[in-house]
Amino acid sequence: MTWDDYDRRALDRLMDKCVEDEAGCWVWKGSRPGGKNRASTTYGDIQYRGRTVVVHRLAYTLMRADVPNGLELDHLCRNPLCVNPDHLEPVTHAENVRRAVAARKAARNG
Ligand SMILES: [Zn+2]
Repeated sequence: MTWDDYDRRALDRLMDKCVEDEAGCWVWKGSRPGGKNRASTTYGDIQYRGRTVVVHRLAYTLMRADVPNGLELDHLCRNPLCVNPDHLEPVTHAENVRRAVAARKAARNG
C-alpha cells in the first residue's frame, strides 16, 4: 500500500466520523483526547501513520496542503470540532490567541 492509498483511507476514516451541521461545519463525532487524564478536551484526535494527530489539522493536510511550520489552524467558524478545510486558516499562535480573545469579547458584548 502506498502512502497515497493510506492517505485516502485515513481521510475516509476521518470523514466517517464527521456530521455536517446547519452551519456547514463538518463536526467531529469520534474520539477526543480529554476525559481522563489529558488537559485538553477541545479537539478530536485520530491515529495517522503511527501517531496521534489532531483531526482538523489532518483534514486540512489531506484535503488542502501541509500546514506551514510554526503555524496553527484557526477555526473561522469558532467550532473547535469542525474539520471543514473551508473553515480553517493557518495563522500564527499570536494571531490565533488574538482572534480567540476578540471572539470571546464579542460573545460577551452580544
Ligand atoms: Zn466549521
